Amino acid sequence: MKATATLKFKENILKWDNAAFYLIDKDSYARPEQLMDYDAVIIDASDQEYTRLLLRRFRAHHNSSLYLKPIYLVNYKEQTDVFINELIDGIIYFPEQITEKINEISELKQRITHLDTDPGHTFESQLIKKVLAFLYTREKKSIKPLPYVYSSIGYTYPVLSVNFEPFEEFRVLDILSWAENENIIWPDFVDRVYFCNNCKNGHLVYREICPSCDSANIKSQDLIHHFPCGYIGPVSDFRNTIDSTMNCPKCSKNLRHIGVDYDKPSIINHCQNCNEVFQDYIVKAKCIHCKHDTDVQYLLAKDINAYKLTKKGRHAATSGFIGERNEKEDEIFGAVNQKTFQTMLYYETERVKHNISANIQLCGLQLENIFDLTRKFGKSKEKAFLTELVQIIREQIKTMDFINITNPSMILICMADSSPETANELMQRISDKIKDLIANNFNGFSIVTEFKTESLKKDISFEKQIHNLSTFLVQSND
Ligand SMILES: [Zn+2]
Ligand SMILES: [Zn+2]
Ligand SMILES: [Zn+2]
Repeated sequence: MKATATLKFKENILKWDNAAFYLIDKDSYARPEQLMDYDAVIIDASDQEYTRLLLRRFRAHHNSSLYLKPIYLVNYKEQTDVFINELIDGIIYFPEQITEKINEISELKQRITHLDTDPGHTFESQLIKKVLAFLYTREKKSIKPLPYVYSSIGYTYPVLSVNFEPFEEFRVLDILSWAENENIIWPDFVDRVYFCNNCKNGHLVYREICPSCDSANIKSQDLIHHFPCGYIGPVSDFRNTIDSTMNCPKCSKNLRHIGVDYDKPSIINHCQNCNEVFQDYIVKAKCIHCKHDTDVQYLLAKDINAYKLTKKGRHAATSGFIGERNEKEDEIFGAVNQKTFQTMLYYETERVKHNISANIQLCGLQLENIFDLTRKFGKSKEKAFLTELVQIIREQIKTMDFINITNPSMILICMADSSPETANELMQRISDKIKDLIANNFNGFSIVTEFKTESLKKDISFEKQIHNLSTFLVQSND
């Protein structure tokens, strides 16, 4: 073991064997973006809540070099928080252990280089790609639900759930069913949970209540059937205030043996609020979140599954996957779908091949953190928003130019008969207008954009050119 005397953090930084560690403790804090270049981050976990918050900032980040960052904890005492445990790469007990992590970190970095860089084409696929990348780099092949008190549905899938606020945890289940439908993961039943049908929260209080006044203030007692005289009444009719013997109120005989001279055929309920006497109560569940009170039969039931990666899922992290998409649903006025875009590009490429003077520009506009915005929308609002983006682009380009926005974080535009300089200017203007629109309409939300224009090439296929263009844009932001 190396001498520990030299193992000291200077202003929260430790450099060892070409690896740089950053220690986040109570006295120092940097935004995750500022820690991009460190090989690993060490968090002082004395405060569990703060640790959870920091882990969220990293693991929910849209930038892969942050959400895949090796993170270790020091001073993590309780070690019982399943959410924290699943999102860290290890716990450090002695300073010497830091240097022992260097191999592990470089292997992890190596695995990161295998990852497919296509950011995903929808909110769902982008999230699942994050999960798959995390699992791949950590050499894991399954996602398990863990009972968790801070989850609104009672269970958490940390690598996926970290992208959602605890109260929107039910959306995690929607993403998982999406991935199951895409044949990326394979379910294994674990439990069934029930949600409020109003807000989909799982924090419910169950009560037996009176059918006439809804009060939970009911008293139940056994009903007694006295065989000799046939009297049926609640057990309180047979009791006296002096001793524990029971006498029939009708024939005054002592009750002897259950099953011999009397029986308890059922129970009877008495509402202390409205005095109603009844046999069957109603079970209602009150949502602690939205206070909605509902008959249990109307609660939403959801299966909680553990998931294994399918073969497709195991390969998806490194080779990408194409989500099967409902083209109609995705059509945005003013834009063309992926298939049409490709067909049109095919003809443009042919035009370039046969006409030397043809000048066609292929432009990619990356809206890097668009999903941080649209994840808050519903499907219809998202569509209206994308339509608006397309209109802004259309105002700048010619009628014969065409747009594809299948993936909102990577908008593709083909500009016919345009010089590279003009296309670049237009893209700059489009990018500025989109930034303004978003900042003005969404509380100053700052969209991170990056664009690139290239003349349509004739020596490589347009598919390849699009792929290279997207990859360039994605990586230039890392
Ligand atoms: Zn009542
Ligand atoms: Zn009797
Ligand atoms: Zn509710």
